[in-house]
Amino acid sequence: MTINDDALADFREKHRGDVLTVEDARYEEARRVWNAMIDRRPAVIARPRAAADVIECVRFAVGMNMPLAVRGGGHNVAGRCVCDDGLVIDFADMKGIRVDPIAMTARAEPGVRWTEFDRETQAFGLATTGGTIGDTGIAGLTLGGGFGWLEGKCGMTVDNLLSADVVLADGRLVQASSSDHPDLFWALRGGGGNFGVVTSFLYRLHEVGPMIVGGLVLHPFSRAKEVLTFFGKFLHTAPDELVAAAVLMTGPDGHKACGITAAYPGDVVDGERLMAPIKQFGPPVVDAMGPMPYRAQQSLIDAAMPPGVLNYWKAEFLRDMSEDVIEVSTEAFSRVPSPMSSILFFPIRGAASRVSPDATAFPHRSGYHVGIYSLWADRAQNEPNIAWARQTWNSIQPLTAGGVYVNELGDDEGVDRVRMAYGLNYERLQQIKAKYDPANVFRLTANITPIAV
Ligand SMILES: Cc1cc2nc3c(=O)[nH]c(=O)nc-3n(C[C@H](O)[C@H](O)[C@H](O)COP(=O)(O)OP(=O)(O)OC[C@H]3O[C@@H](n4cnc5c(N)ncnc54)[C@H](O)[C@@H]3O)c2cc1C
Repeated sequence: MTINDDALADFREKHRGDVLTVEDARYEEARRVWNAMIDRRPAVIARPRAAADVIECVRFAVGMNMPLAVRGGGHNVAGRCVCDDGLVIDFADMKGIRVDPIAMTARAEPGVRWTEFDRETQAFGLATTGGTIGDTGIAGLTLGGGFGWLEGKCGMTVDNLLSADVVLADGRLVQASSSDHPDLFWALRGGGGNFGVVTSFLYRLHEVGPMIVGGLVLHPFSRAKEVLTFFGKFLHTAPDELVAAAVLMTGPDGHKACGITAAYPGDVVDGERLMAPIKQFGPPVVDAMGPMPYRAQQSLIDAAMPPGVLNYWKAEFLRDMSEDVIEVSTEAFSRVPSPMSSILFFPIRGAASRVSPDATAFPHRSGYHVGIYSLWADRAQNEPNIAWARQTWNSIQPLTAGGVYVNELGDDEGVDRVRMAYGLNYERLQQIKAKYDPANVFRLTANITPIAV
């Protein structure tokens, strides 16, 4: 798309932050996202400094009839935060965080990553449920739901969102909370970026750590079926606050392995007692579980999912860790082509599972999230790695509960899968979309099409 020079000059004048186009030396770096499979070339990348800049961005994109994408941490595997030919609102320069230790809240701007958020909140011994990889953006994760190590104690990230400032499609800036625009507030908590551009998030915080019990144990792949069976049974008897995930992966020694990674964000002595069965089952080939800072747990698996490699993911929700699921997933992992790939089973449990599926727009409140994560480094190997993820998903899918996490939808999935992500909340979301974004300005999302009642 060619942009009229005068219109661009006018936009530069009104927008306080940086405005990058292809002529800018920073453009190439700025258009890259976490998943190296995504290769898009926006016409303009704007880096707002504050909400007033975001209003200018929305007005500019709507006025020019340009595609509009919004980037928080740039982690979404589908790369929806970057587009060809349109405008990207990139929050790289909006990283403010202010913790109120008396009210136990944190206000954070949308360019913040979880590692930055945890650093500030842990300075006061506080935290809220965030992602399991430090580099992930708070913005996209929060708007899609947000599961993590604290979900059993504190609920999902959306359950801890108290309010959000939002620039709407018509350029108005509103605050959404349970008392102001409650319909919009409901929709933001799981409806993704469909309703506007969030310029500030207010979160509820909880006392956490700084020391917790967490970590990872790995067992040889030959025992994977026993480990996964143990994992399912163990979670049935564990207290809510204990969140454990199981993973099929390649260990540091280059051999396939089955691991359990867990966190207990309560008393350390209690945590060691509660985690003991995980360590006693074995013997493990790696035992890296014990007391550790909460922030160390939050970056425990960062190195396993680095930015800039090639990714193709499939995801689903499971009812339980059934024998069939265990059989199918271990068989599939025995054929995995890349040592960087994994299959991760993450439960939705405790406080996260006691919220009704229609209390927020995020509907998946029980069972396990299964992520089939294909990662590889060499583009010549795209075909076998994509095929492995698809075949694995084809074999697991008939055994699932029939839902998918909106934040892990790929960019090649159809409208039926998008609908499944919102589940029973889809029609209500369509009505709220019709009220706040009738022209579907925010369509470069896992898109909810507007339908007026
Ligand atoms: C390695 C890895 C680990 C992950 N681990 C977890 C996990 O533990 N728990 C979990 O729940 N999820 C997890 N996810 C999924 C994660 O929630 C999504 O990738 C999420 O979209 C990332 O948010 P982001 O801001 O970094 O992404 P971006 O790609 O920047 O944004 C994703 C989308 O969110 C919307 N958006 C972003 N910012 C705004 C804004 N300010 N206003 C309006 N809309 C906006 C846009 O539609 C955008 O396309 C993980 C992802 C990765 C890649």
